[in-house]
Amino acid sequence: MAGRLLIAALVAGQTLLAGPSRGHADPLPPHAPRIADYDIAVRLDAQTKRLDGRLRLAWRNPSADTVPDLWFHLYLNAFRDRETTFWRESRGQLRDVPMAEDGWGKIDVTALRIAGGADLLPSLTFEAPDDGNRRDRTLARVRLPQPVAPGGTLDLEIAFTALLPKAYARTGYAGDYFLVGQWFPKIAVYEPAGTRGRAAGGWNAHQFHANSEFYADFGHYRAAITLPRRFVVGATGVRTARVDNGDGTTTHTYEQGDVHDFAWTASPHFVEITRRFEAAKEVSAQAYREAAARLGRSADAQRLGDVEVRLLMQPEHMPQAERYLRTAMRGIAAFGLAYGRYPYRTLTIVDPPEAAIGTGGMEYPTFFTAGTTTPFNAWPLDRVYLPEIVVAHEFAHQYFQGMLASNEAEEAWLDEGITEWATGRLLDDLLGADRSFLELAGLRVGDLDYQRAGNDRSRGLEMIRQPSWTYDRGYTFNSYGRPSLTLRTLEGLLGRDTMARVMRTYAERWRFRHPSSDDFYRVASEVAGRDLTPFFRQTIESPAVIDYAVGGITREATYTSVTVRREGDLQIPIVVAFKFAGRPVERRTWDGVARWTRFTFDRAEPLEWVDVDPERRVALDVSWLNNGRVIAADRRAPVAMTSRWLLAVQQVVSWLAF
Ligand SMILES: [Zn+2]
Repeated sequence: MAGRLLIAALVAGQTLLAGPSRGHADPLPPHAPRIADYDIAVRLDAQTKRLDGRLRLAWRNPSADTVPDLWFHLYLNAFRDRETTFWRESRGQLRDVPMAEDGWGKIDVTALRIAGGADLLPSLTFEAPDDGNRRDRTLARVRLPQPVAPGGTLDLEIAFTALLPKAYARTGYAGDYFLVGQWFPKIAVYEPAGTRGRAAGGWNAHQFHANSEFYADFGHYRAAITLPRRFVVGATGVRTARVDNGDGTTTHTYEQGDVHDFAWTASPHFVEITRRFEAAKEVSAQAYREAAARLGRSADAQRLGDVEVRLLMQPEHMPQAERYLRTAMRGIAAFGLAYGRYPYRTLTIVDPPEAAIGTGGMEYPTFFTAGTTTPFNAWPLDRVYLPEIVVAHEFAHQYFQGMLASNEAEEAWLDEGITEWATGRLLDDLLGADRSFLELAGLRVGDLDYQRAGNDRSRGLEMIRQPSWTYDRGYTFNSYGRPSLTLRTLEGLLGRDTMARVMRTYAERWRFRHPSSDDFYRVASEVAGRDLTPFFRQTIESPAVIDYAVGGITREATYTSVTVRREGDLQIPIVVAFKFAGRPVERRTWDGVARWTRFTFDRAEPLEWVDVDPERRVALDVSWLNNGRVIAADRRAPVAMTSRWLLAVQQVVSWLAF
């Protein structure tokens, strides 16, 4: 609600920012450091599903160390055979999509040399630092004849061949549809001392696991993709050339700076829809002013840029094209205002065919895959907002993982969890908080209900900050839903405006860098003006659960006492509301530390109801069914109603989502 207070804050903000620093009011860094620049030429044989590629890689040593070796990801080798770490962990199945019997894929490096110099291929070894699996070939290391000096650069010439897997896990083909991700030898991240808390510099590189995703350095990518003329192509970045080679093939060249990965897609069946996000039309002056006031930024710092949105749709999903586009447009505006402008000129959205649904829901810089099926074209599933959720989620990744390039293997919550929270926030605003997941036959489910449906006491075995490959069963909950609920709980503690400033400060300070969980804690504490580390240690780095509940109630003629219990291990300040007959609602606070506390009231009026955390700010509380109790019959009592409704919603959502 943009009321008088907001306008007053706006005026105050303008006054503050009108000082001499105004020319430097934009805290967003314009560009990423250039660590790894790629110039790639690749040819796709659409019949045999093979890639033949050559690339030139310019790598800069970003540290003060002398670097004696180079590490590369060869992630297509995850699909090589039944001996890979990926296969052992996934058993050939990811996100419920099984691998086809004949769906193997691989990548072979056929040449690797210093430009105009030494052949490095003989020194290439496969490494398995995570699990010691000697048969895994997803991580390679080469020794250099001469180490790379601090700040020095190295030019490499690399050739490779690859066989794409049948699509079931992020990348591959189905018929003549191709989604080509993790397809070239990609250099790992050399972390200088101080990066993500490390004491000494060194390579950070992991094998390809079933759960974990990616981590790479920023640079400039140029890729020339040659394939049969009949294909429609989409890729990271801007298309800078399209040349008909006169032999039945076309070469499409795409380029993009300030990114850390490059993916592309091809299919003759795509229906291409382009729409321009025109900031001047999509964002009102009032929206700029409100965001600037809320965040304490100048209106200038809020300015968004235009974006060419390109949607590559399956013909059978065309009735959903508008749902995709509308969500993307709202995402560019809302996330731009909240986390800083989307800095790229293009955004490509790929709608995969249903035979390749395993390639759906994947994020790459300026490029992502969504995912849907034909039943969502029409009633009743047009009111189940999964297509919107997927588009919003993958677009949020343009920030949390794309620009804030956290380590997805070691701290997945920083990309998946923050993305999940940001997605819920966007869809609550877009569709309504009570129906941002679905509205069907009078039943409404919001993002919060959806996230909470997976939250129960038995999930308290593993924790949020934990390497992705070390989970038993808790990866999804701890990387997505639980961090989303944690951030909602934090928002409940800090208030919505402070939370917005926390997220904005984090997004602008760590844009084009590699943040860790500790960096997030530091920003949150700084902006909130108090040390939030104890909160994060309990919620992010411990398996403890939160559960506060009404305990015993004792009533005598002249007094009433109510016990409130802490049934989980996690401690958080709690508000308890009491309603006595003929009196207004009374609120008391409790630090939530002891196992229980007792509230006593010396009065004759009967207690009508009691409610722990009445606004349901503590989204992480594993059960809200024990938070409230109605004592005296009162038709207006909110507690019992809420409980019954929540029970129904939790049941339905658990059928749908888990
Ligand atoms: Zn994600």
